[in-house]
Amino acid sequence: MSAVPKDAAAIILLRQNTDPHNPEVFWVKRSDQLAFLGGFHAFPGGQIDATDAEADVRNSADAATAAMISGAARELFEELGVLVVQGGDAMTKGQRASLLDDLESGRMSWPALLKHYELYLDANDFTFVGRWVTPPFNARRFDTWFFLVNCPPKQEPYLTAGELQAGEWITASDAYERWMRDQVVAVPPTLHALRTLANGVSPDLVDRFLSLNHAHGEIARRITFRPNYICFPVRTPTRPPATHTCCYLIHTTQEIIVVDPGSPYEDEQQALADCIDDMIAEGRRVREIIITHLHPDHVGGVNALKAHLAGNVPVAAHRETAAALNDVHVDRFIGDGDVIVLEGEPPVRLVALHTPGHARGHLCFHDPDRGALLTGDNIVGVGSVLIDPPQGNMRDYLNSLERMRALPNLSVLFGGHGPAVAAPYRKIDEYISHRLERERNILEAVREGATDPKQIVAKVYTDVSPKAYSMAERAVLAHLEKLRDDGAVITDNDGLWLPG
Ligand SMILES: [Zn+2]
Repeated sequence: MSAVPKDAAAIILLRQNTDPHNPEVFWVKRSDQLAFLGGFHAFPGGQIDATDAEADVRNSADAATAAMISGAARELFEELGVLVVQGGDAMTKGQRASLLDDLESGRMSWPALLKHYELYLDANDFTFVGRWVTPPFNARRFDTWFFLVNCPPKQEPYLTAGELQAGEWITASDAYERWMRDQVVAVPPTLHALRTLANGVSPDLVDRFLSLNHAHGEIARRITFRPNYICFPVRTPTRPPATHTCCYLIHTTQEIIVVDPGSPYEDEQQALADCIDDMIAEGRRVREIIITHLHPDHVGGVNALKAHLAGNVPVAAHRETAAALNDVHVDRFIGDGDVIVLEGEPPVRLVALHTPGHARGHLCFHDPDRGALLTGDNIVGVGSVLIDPPQGNMRDYLNSLERMRALPNLSVLFGGHGPAVAAPYRKIDEYISHRLERERNILEAVREGATDPKQIVAKVYTDVSPKAYSMAERAVLAHLEKLRDDGAVITDNDGLWLPG
């Protein structure tokens, strides 16, 4: 079951006296540490609070819109110190800072604060420009209302302590250009806003914002976190909290490589086929279907897609993956270091990395020109990675993580599940330190007398729900096997694990 989207609001702040042909917006870089879209470029915003609805909002069409406006205004104030209210014209910067302190410290709620200082919100200051829903492939989902707001005179946004690590005024066209040059990672509503504003502020601006169905809550299937890489999440019978597998369509003007069309469900296979057909209609051909590894949630739609493409497209995978698959025929083997160069523009070059650990034949693909790494199930954007022997091997997995960590200039990871990761090294470090911590705890548990995975799980996996114990036992076994190879533990004749 996918998570239910929570109400959220975001503000696209326009600079005063901005050039209508090339307006300036204030965009922010979200902190690398945030669980939701950490490291992404976006607009200030966040989840609606229950009390937001109590604020005094005038001229609003309805109560729901008023609550969203109130939440958007609060988030803008909290994140950038900009207060878009009526009745506060005479307020100084220092007074606004003191109000912010009242709010942040919890001394006053947002509605109480407005009331206390005799301020109110005017819906006419907030132009609704769309409502976007996070696709269900993410465990955290939001139904976000976007508002266009002119930055009030004499106010200058600044980063308050917290969720953002950078922010700046930038012309919409420069911002979009930076995305096109692979310098930022962003979600579809951000890109749509930048593209729309880059075409100028004109009387039909709002219509242009609302011209997409996705701006009215329809889920976007094609997600372009970065150019040339379409993430197309397909529903699969995968491991919760993941509900979808990310199929990637890496493309140039002439070619498409399809990675992991994993869904066994006909409706999802059809949706993917439709998307690929559209890309073919634009003049491309599908060069190859690539499988990162053997798991059913990554190969479930390979045969259907191959049939849809009239069987002309080869399937490629690592030799070990090919050997383990019964139902899918692999036409071409990919080995470590193999380079795939797509024809067409712009040039796309992928270097295959054999990165076993999650599965023996696991492949990652490195795009050194873009700092992108397709990580398959070695690193994922949602949920955790299971190392399940004998396909799973903890020592191999740690070596593979170290190898990925050593790649230079990574700026984005595209994982097999969940959204892209925009803080790659931080994420890889987290993965490595998490595994090493588990290993230390498991070794300690063995030294304290635990002799089998069940006992070890009970001691070590206190942060995991009992429902996940059987999975955890598999992971413990993988750790124990590594520790045995390291000489830190041994098994006796009865198969019990003992300190080495
Ligand atoms: Zn897998």
